[in-house]
Amino acid sequence: MTETEGVIKFDLKWHAGPAWQGPEIEVLDRWRSHMLAHEVLGQIPARYDGFGFGNLSARVSPGFLISGTQTGASATLGPEGYAVVVGWELSQNRVTARGPVKPSSESLTHAALYEAEPAVAWIFHGHSPVLWRHGEALGLPLTDPAVPYGTPAMAAEVKRLSREAMQRAGILIMGGHEDGFIAFGGDAERVGGRMLDYLDLASREET
Ligand SMILES: [Zn+2]
Repeated sequence: MTETEGVIKFDLKWHAGPAWQGPEIEVLDRWRSHMLAHEVLGQIPARYDGFGFGNLSARVSPGFLISGTQTGASATLGPEGYAVVVGWELSQNRVTARGPVKPSSESLTHAALYEAEPAVAWIFHGHSPVLWRHGEALGLPLTDPAVPYGTPAMAAEVKRLSREAMQRAGILIMGGHEDGFIAFGGDAERVGGRMLDYLDLASREET
């Protein structure tokens, strides 16, 4: 089954507005560059029917900052590439956002984590076939493979496993979202560092 990555499934209320001006943009763009280099974020014709994949967010007041939908092909985003999600309703699959771009189609998964774990300040979502294959063997929690991305059920799965994931490496494997993982925590450098460590561990499992 081929998923249509990147297609917005939620009820989005978006208002065009000015770009976010804050230090979070530089941090997100820097880790985004690492993710592009490792091909866990981007837009590659041979993968996912050419849809963009991967997204990043940071908790800000009054919600969170997240990369825009279908921005995977850009080398850097800068302030113009991020939206601010200012409200959400998980059970209704509803997101309210503003900014120069529409938010990632996976905003609800990020919202679920921020809601479940007050200590989470950064979330990096990427796609790695290798980590997806070996994540469970490496001890990472796995969401129910029957639950597809971008649904209230996935948001509930992420909430269910978030505490367990926080107590381990701060990484969840999305069983029902091909190649998907989420790295998260309170400190961007630690979140990104652990993400790279686990990508490396998983690739060693391949050999
Ligand atoms: Zn994804």
